[in-house]
Amino acid sequence: MTGSSTAAAGRAEAAEPLVTQTADVVVVGAGFSGLYALYRLRKLGLKVVCFEAGDGVGGTWYWNRYPGARVDIESMQYSYSFDDELQQEWRWPEYFSPQADLEAYANHVADRFGLRELIRFGARVDRMRFEERTSRWHVSTQRGDQVTAKYVIAACGALNATNVPDFPGLDSFRGQWYHTSQWPKEDVSFDGKRVGLIGTGSTGIQAAPVVAGSAAHLHVFQRTPAYSLPANNRPLPPDYEHEWKGHYAERRAQMRQSFTATYMPVQQYGSVFDYSPEERARILEQAWASRNGLLMMRTFTDTGKSLEANEILAEFIRGKIRQVVTDPDVAELLCPKTYPVGAKRICMDTGYYETFNRPNVTLVDVRANPVIAITPAGLRTAAAEYDLDIIIFATGFDAVTGSLTRMNVTGAGGIDLRAKWARRPANYLGFMVAGFPNLFMIHGPGSPGVLAQMITTGEWQVDWVASVIEDLDRDGYARIDATPDAEDAWSAEMDEMAGKTLYRFADSWYVGANIPGKPRSFMIYIGGFDQYARRCTQQVRDGYEGFTLARDASPSKLP
Ligand SMILES: Cc1cc2nc3c(=O)[nH]c(=O)nc-3n(C[C@H](O)[C@H](O)[C@H](O)COP(=O)(O)OP(=O)(O)OC[C@H]3O[C@@H](n4cnc5c(N)ncnc54)[C@H](O)[C@@H]3O)c2cc1C
Repeated sequence: MTGSSTAAAGRAEAAEPLVTQTADVVVVGAGFSGLYALYRLRKLGLKVVCFEAGDGVGGTWYWNRYPGARVDIESMQYSYSFDDELQQEWRWPEYFSPQADLEAYANHVADRFGLRELIRFGARVDRMRFEERTSRWHVSTQRGDQVTAKYVIAACGALNATNVPDFPGLDSFRGQWYHTSQWPKEDVSFDGKRVGLIGTGSTGIQAAPVVAGSAAHLHVFQRTPAYSLPANNRPLPPDYEHEWKGHYAERRAQMRQSFTATYMPVQQYGSVFDYSPEERARILEQAWASRNGLLMMRTFTDTGKSLEANEILAEFIRGKIRQVVTDPDVAELLCPKTYPVGAKRICMDTGYYETFNRPNVTLVDVRANPVIAITPAGLRTAAAEYDLDIIIFATGFDAVTGSLTRMNVTGAGGIDLRAKWARRPANYLGFMVAGFPNLFMIHGPGSPGVLAQMITTGEWQVDWVASVIEDLDRDGYARIDATPDAEDAWSAEMDEMAGKTLYRFADSWYVGANIPGKPRSFMIYIGGFDQYARRCTQQVRDGYEGFTLARDASPSKLP
């Protein structure tokens, strides 16, 4: 999303709309999950149509072209595992890939496996309606496509529905404004410009050092500081790549059996309280200097569980911030003090804190003095006016549920998904919502989603859905639905697990706190990807426990 005269990414030549066509499966979204779904379902011999709102593949890595955009998981891991030749042949230039490399990879995959022909680009789904009589989904897009299909796979992204805060006066702004997740394809020049960056989550933290490098002045408007760890990104050495490629099979298997779907061997030291302050400091220094700052989150077994243990880690990180940032007042403002480390998304940065030592960078505390309005000349807080040429909104997403709730989805009995989710995004196993038969979510609420490495977990979820579809079609079933009881039990289990974690001590987007009016509930399955996968596999083995399967198109048990 951009404002001003700067046009957003140019639109590719669009294919004619598909009108009153039928398919076996409609896939919404051509990010990494959607692309794999196309590959997997076509292999089953199914007729698949994919609608993608963007003009290209890659999802997150198509949209988020902002300066500094980069993945936080090593690319040797954050990549597909379904085809060994692909993972052996593809070369990642850096440990942590920048947006352009990930987008190039998505394009390569689409071409290599002939997936592009299945995708309708520039086709935003704006209506999905389940017809009970026929047990079919009617899917239509803003540009006029209409397709009827037995199944829908919503691979529409957990971090895709853009959140632009509702500041008064944005329309009056005379400069240019951009949301980081709708960044234009054309270069945006900051040369000689006064830039305002709103938001200091992982995107703002990635963008600030790059923007500061060429802007005349950068004002960073911070409401809540983040804990950020050094990415230590660098070119990927050939011997490291070689070593990974020699062990891909077993490492991928280990990833699939891990809590976060990552391969992260780490020396664990037990409880932080088993060590003297000097020993703790030495161990944490080692982790800090390691090639992956996230390792330090796992160094001690209790820093993610107990507030007291967590505070030791938090204070270590604050100490690092104070060492880097020369102005003590700015350093204090950058130190998170109101929530535990890890309770909001941990950030990884390249020179973020150093940026505040530059003479052309100012940190503005909008917790103390909130933004009141965007003005024609810039931005007004409760304390001051800031003249700006460019405003960057790094304000994130209506996360996890937003892509689906913005799609006008109605299920059995005409129930609206937004109404169904008015109190919480109820679902079963993160895959299905009772009353919305044959609609499968990938990375939806109730799944490990954003708390695990999402290419691997997306592949796994797509495989699970594909095997369910195979079962249903082979055995002549018309529909599958989650039962309301199973859904309630899953919600209760999610709440119980989340209630025991430190996540409850933060107002984060994990609970919908960034979107006014969004119901508060911890949306992500926190029991670990390994446990989640076992659980979903088991429910199927146990005769689809928690689901109803019907051979005819009779109404589901309504929630
Ligand atoms: C800045 C950023 C950094 C990230 N870093 C990491 C990381 O380090 N590690 C990690 O594991 N994950 C990371 N993620 C999460 C990332 O989203 C996933 O890793 C992964 O790319 C998700 O793929 P996906 O295909 O499920 O969804 P997406 O990539 O979000 O793709 C969804 C697609 O659906 C399309 N779509 C949505 N609604 C509609 C509609 N109504 N009609 C048609 N099309 C629609 C969108 O246009 C989009 O192309 C990051 C996300 C962001 C935004």
